[in-house]
Amino acid sequence: MAEPGPPRPVRPLPPAGLCATCRHAERLASPRSTFLRCRRADADPAYPRYPPLPVTNCPGHEAEHAAGPGVESAR
Ligand code: SF4
Repeated sequence: MAEPGPPRPVRPLPPAGLCATCRHAERLASPRSTFLRCRRADADPAYPRYPPLPVTNCPGHEAEHAAGPGVESAR
């Protein structure tokens, strides 16, 4: 049986593009890698559960800190 080697470094998440600023993105980490999951995929099959990164065009992107309903916009 082979001896276990040194622990592998965790691969960082590649540049995520739009997902990096999207409120529907969820970062998941495993011992060997990091994944980005799109929560929109839970309700809409048009969105990939694990989108190929970087995402450069997405109609579902919503900024993480966008004003929600009932929040007045500055004029
Ligand atoms: S909605 Fe689009 S931008 Fe937002 S997490 Fe999903 S794939 Fe990324």
